[in-house]
Amino acid sequence: MKKYKGYLIDLDGTTYYGTRRIPSAEAFIHRLNQRNDAYVFLTNNATRIPQEIVNHLKNDYDLPVSQENVYSSTEALLSYMKENFRDKNIFVVGERALHHQVKQAGFRIVNDAQADVVVQGLNRQTNYEELATAAMAIRNGAAFLVTNADQTIPTEKGIMPSSGAITAFLEVASGKQALVAGKPNPLIVEAALKKLKLSANEVLLIGDKYETDILAGLKAGVDTLLVLTGVTQAEEVAQLPTPPTYVLNDLSEWEFN
Ligand SMILES: [Mg+2]
Repeated sequence: MKKYKGYLIDLDGTTYYGTRRIPSAEAFIHRLNQRNDAYVFLTNNATRIPQEIVNHLKNDYDLPVSQENVYSSTEALLSYMKENFRDKNIFVVGERALHHQVKQAGFRIVNDAQADVVVQGLNRQTNYEELATAAMAIRNGAAFLVTNADQTIPTEKGIMPSSGAITAFLEVASGKQALVAGKPNPLIVEAALKKLKLSANEVLLIGDKYETDILAGLKAGVDTLLVLTGVTQAEEVAQLPTPPTYVLNDLSEWEFN
């Protein structure tokens, strides 16, 4: 196994599985802390601000990590927006966390279809008026940027619609395609590399889902490690179109060099 300077690590299915802990993953993170290796948790979740993710990891999984160790699709999108849409008016379709982060990044939030950019994530309180305004803004020429295109979200009540379902609504209503920051798009990986100040060949991306984690890594040109603790199952591995660099049952099998 190659020696890496940094690690990009998925959360659900990789670091924990819902509310179930994955001891081998926790031991791996503790090991990274001891070694002082650079790492960030790479998450598509745009409904929690980084501090909430840090608290969740600390309180529920005993992982003492800092905000520096968390990188979400929202942060990737904001980093992209700072480069391409500075000083623009933003219409937000999203929850409190997304509004907060867009404002905190120095952008002006507006509430009408004259916006220059529509930023969309999951909003469990959305309504027709909000979606109609967003669709009209996009029709008027606003850029259409999306945190993550996950279609569904598992909850106690069952499989519920996620951010991607709202994106599909807006794409149909506006006739335009969104630019998506989250995995499987490479934007989040590239933005995380910038944050870590590392290049693609120095980093390993670790995830449990081939269609999001591993594809994001492949597109960004970083080595990938598929762990079989989450979505992708052992019997699927032989059929994967482009195999990950490594496939392990869990992170206790990783050998540091
Ligand atoms: Mg996962």
